[in-house]
Amino acid sequence: MYDYIIIGTGPSGGNIAHNLFKAGANILVLEAGKLMNKKTFPRTEADTSARLYWGGGIEFDTDAKMGFLRTRVVGGTSIVNQCLLDRFDDIAFNDWKAESGVNWFTNEQLAKHYDTVEHALALHTFTANEMNRNAQLFTQSCDKIGVKWGYLRKGQSDCAQERGNDCMACLGGCHRDSKQSSYAGYLRDDIAAGLNIQTETEVTQIVHNGNTVTLHALQQSKPVTFQAKNIVLAGGAFGTTKMLLQSGFKKQLPALGKNFSTHPQFMSFGLFNEEIHAYKGYFQTVASKDPNLRQKGYKLENVFAPPISAAMLFSRTGAYHQEIMRNYTRMTCIEVAVRDENAGEIKVDNKGKLTIDKPFTAQDRRRRDEGRELIANILTNEGAKKVYASPFSVGLHLMGGSVMGTDSAKSVVDPEFRVHGYKNMFVADSSIYPNAPGINPSLTIMALAQKLSDQLIGANHGI
Ligand SMILES: Cc1cc2nc3c(=O)[nH]c(=O)nc-3n(C[C@H](O)[C@H](O)[C@H](O)COP(=O)(O)OP(=O)(O)OC[C@H]3O[C@@H](n4cnc5c(N)ncnc54)[C@H](O)[C@@H]3O)c2cc1C
Repeated sequence: MYDYIIIGTGPSGGNIAHNLFKAGANILVLEAGKLMNKKTFPRTEADTSARLYWGGGIEFDTDAKMGFLRTRVVGGTSIVNQCLLDRFDDIAFNDWKAESGVNWFTNEQLAKHYDTVEHALALHTFTANEMNRNAQLFTQSCDKIGVKWGYLRKGQSDCAQERGNDCMACLGGCHRDSKQSSYAGYLRDDIAAGLNIQTETEVTQIVHNGNTVTLHALQQSKPVTFQAKNIVLAGGAFGTTKMLLQSGFKKQLPALGKNFSTHPQFMSFGLFNEEIHAYKGYFQTVASKDPNLRQKGYKLENVFAPPISAAMLFSRTGAYHQEIMRNYTRMTCIEVAVRDENAGEIKVDNKGKLTIDKPFTAQDRRRRDEGRELIANILTNEGAKKVYASPFSVGLHLMGGSVMGTDSAKSVVDPEFRVHGYKNMFVADSSIYPNAPGINPSLTIMALAQKLSDQLIGANHGI
């Protein structure tokens, strides 16, 4: 019998497993994905989709209008993310407080947890000489048009750019362990030191027996069972919500599955006469940091996409498609990320399949359209001959579904990270986000996980 079983190893599970392991707790970590490392991460874009992602690549909403990305590997989605790590502002926390009734959602209350996480990871804020041509054109145009921008902060130690490494390759896992994924940042050394982890083990059912919890799982397709005094669900918005839904908790928790948000991102490409090579070097170093856009509910990010993903972003075929791909090296790219409303819902059908409803509200559409118009302005002002706006949106920040709040009719998790009514089932991952913050979520996921870790260690729950 374990004192704690932690399910999932992304920014949330990785942090909690690390802290409890260091505190000497009797723990087991379960992860649906495989353990990979800098030597075994995929080397090509196609291989990355097939080997790292749930669903073998992209999962869609029920309308097939929005695609979602999340991974199934030790380290969770932090293995493929850009690791841009931002603290929330007061706007985000005030909106969380208003939605949830949780009064410790403030920068002051979370400062020490942010500090601990930031102290544990290598962080780097980009500078002017690290911008590639895509970023130079974006910032030059923003300056002319009057859009405020700023340098991004990334969790990375040594990317060896001078030796020709491109961060685009890190979208399939960092081959230098420079990116501060929850594997490189937390778990790698713990596993070497004997952390008890079972990989390729997907939890399918949670049975609550009062003082203990039984977990049924499939380990490489074979049924297995585990028991613990406490469990920590860290499967992410889809994973955690699905585990609770398919275990029948919806009856007691009517809000389960609701309030799904995802910061939908729409990319626009600008065609220039000159060679841009937007995939070179650090391909994401700057973004809009404009109070006006923040207030309007969207931000602009200077990004790019590897070739297969770029090709999939356009629904048209034939000459139009060829024109885009033939000019790939002369394209720049900016995306608008919308701070979306909470209208989505995560469900599980009677065959146990995840289904996602993600209606786009009138406000979401207004924000997208305004952002796209501004991007077109930025690109044409700097000399783009043509602008191609992708009709598809991608959700990379999966949030909600098991949200935190004081009212058990409207939320799933209480302000002490317990599933309402269950004293030994905890959640502190992206599923507890009450609404979309409009800010990169990972650092706050880790700060919340740190708060829960401190709470569990402090309360001496079996440690
Ligand atoms: C391409 C991309 C770029 C991104 N860039 C950024 C960025 O720059 N900055 C930022 O802040 N965020 C970024 N994100 C988002 C960020 O990575 C996620 O918000 C974050 O990883 C979520 O953390 P989590 O711990 O809640 O879940 P996850 O990281 O998704 O981890 C969940 C883990 O649980 C496992 N799991 C799920 N269900 C089960 C089960 N039933 N049994 C066992 N294991 C299970 C999964 O396999 C997975 O390993 C990006 C995402 C993507 C896809």
